[in-house]
Amino acid sequence: MKYFAGIDIGSTAIKISIADENRELVGYKISASGSMFYKYAQETLGSLLKELDIKEEDIVYTVATGYGRKLFKEADENISEITANAIGARAAAKEYGEIKTIINIGGQDSKAISLDNDGNVVNFAMNDRCAAGTGKFLDVVALKLEMDTSELAEHHFKADGTPLSINSTCAVFAESEIIGLLGNNHAVEDIVSGVHYSIAKRIVKLVKRVGVKENIYFDGGPALNKGLVNAIENELGKKVFVPAYPQITTSFGAAIMGAESYQYESKG
Ligand code: ADP
Repeated sequence: MKYFAGIDIGSTAIKISIADENRELVGYKISASGSMFYKYAQETLGSLLKELDIKEEDIVYTVATGYGRKLFKEADENISEITANAIGARAAAKEYGEIKTIINIGGQDSKAISLDNDGNVVNFAMNDRCAAGTGKFLDVVALKLEMDTSELAEHHFKADGTPLSINSTCAVFAESEIIGLLGNNHAVEDIVSGVHYSIAKRIVKLVKRVGVKENIYFDGGPALNKGLVNAIENELGKKVFVPAYPQITTSFGAAIMGAESYQYESKG
């Protein structure tokens, strides 16, 4: 069996997916990007192959994507994360239906991508200013509230009443705003849901720039946060589909691209 590796070196996390000849996902691994993108990506790949019992030489084509993609010198090809995200989203949602709009929230940016009927990218909008509405924003909030980012959702669903309004667009200013809210005795759950709704409002603006076309799909690490998913659905007034492994779909898309390129080159 031949295998294809997709390496997504993101601002916050390295995601590696392995696809087989049928373009099915056979395994994945996530690790922190840290300060040494290339070294950590190599190590992550090595330990994933060991776990899957796949030999290095059975990886016949590697595609790198994400911020740090150009650093991964062994890659046969590198592609933009927008292309990889579109390919991965379609594959991850194939049981759900045709995806026309992708919302991706990463560690340091957020994107809305519009696809045509064939899954080609026709338009996209990106927000990468001051970590507004990104995973970093959520990580800063969670740290201040003394919880893990993965615990934000359970607090979100405990909130009742109108979510608090959080106006800061910068992660740094948001922290001081939250200190102010805590000082005014606001409940943690109301602050958490306020943060989710402030991110959701910003994302909805981004989606409107490319056009709200169903089906709508949401991925990236923050899509693991069901509280944020709930806030986005309420702000959009529409259901969004979140795949089983939302953080790795861009790397899966890169692996699928690898299989396509390899098969194309082998025929040529
Ligand atoms: P990038 O591609 O920019 O590195 P990711 O898509 O990997 O970003 O997302 C990283 C973000 O995902 C983190 O900053 C964190 O906020 C969020 N995240 C990761 N795991 C979880 C989890 N279990 N629950 C909620 N959020 C998470």
